[in-house]
Amino acid sequence: MKRLTREEKFMRAAIKAAKRGLSEGEVPIGAVVVYEDKVVARGYNRRTKLQLASAHAEMMAIDKACKKFHSWRLPENCELYVTLEPCPMCMGACLNARVDKIYFGAYEQKGRSLTTELAEANLLNHTTIVTGGVLGQECSSLLTEFFTSMRNKQKEEKQLKKKSTMETE
Ligand SMILES: [Zn+2]
Repeated sequence: MKRLTREEKFMRAAIKAAKRGLSEGEVPIGAVVVYEDKVVARGYNRRTKLQLASAHAEMMAIDKACKKFHSWRLPENCELYVTLEPCPMCMGACLNARVDKIYFGAYEQKGRSLTTELAEANLLNHTTIVTGGVLGQECSSLLTEFFTSMRNKQKEEKQLKKKSTMETE
C-alpha cells in the first residue's frame, strides 16, 4: 500500500470525523485542527442534530481548539483539515482564529465558494494558505455515496406511500 503523506494522514483523521457524523445521519463532513504535528481538535457537521446553521465541521473543530488553547487566536502554525472545501462562514472563522494553513479534500461542486479570494484578501490582516484536493477522491465519494443513498431512500419511501394509497383506494 502507498504510504500516506503527512497531509493525507491528517485528512484521514478528518474523514474519520466525517464518518462519525454519517453514523448520526448527518451529511458527512469532518474537520481537524493540527498543531505541532498533532490533532488538537476534531469536529463534524452536526447541522441536523443541533438544527444550527453554524454547526459546520470546521466551526466545531475551531471552537474546540480555541477552548483548548483558552484563546480565540490559535497559536501560530495551526492547520485545519476539512473533507470539503470550506464555505465563506468557515473561511471567516479560520481567519478570525488565525489558522495559517487550510487543507481540504473535495472541491465544492455547487457554485463559487470564494475560498481563494477570502484566503488572499488579507481580511483581519491575516492571510492563509489553502490547498485543495487532499484525498479528494475519497472525500468526494463519501459525500456522493451519502446523497445517493439518501435519494434512494426517499424514492423507496415515495413508492411505499404510493403503494399504500393504492391499496386503500
Ligand atoms: Zn462552512
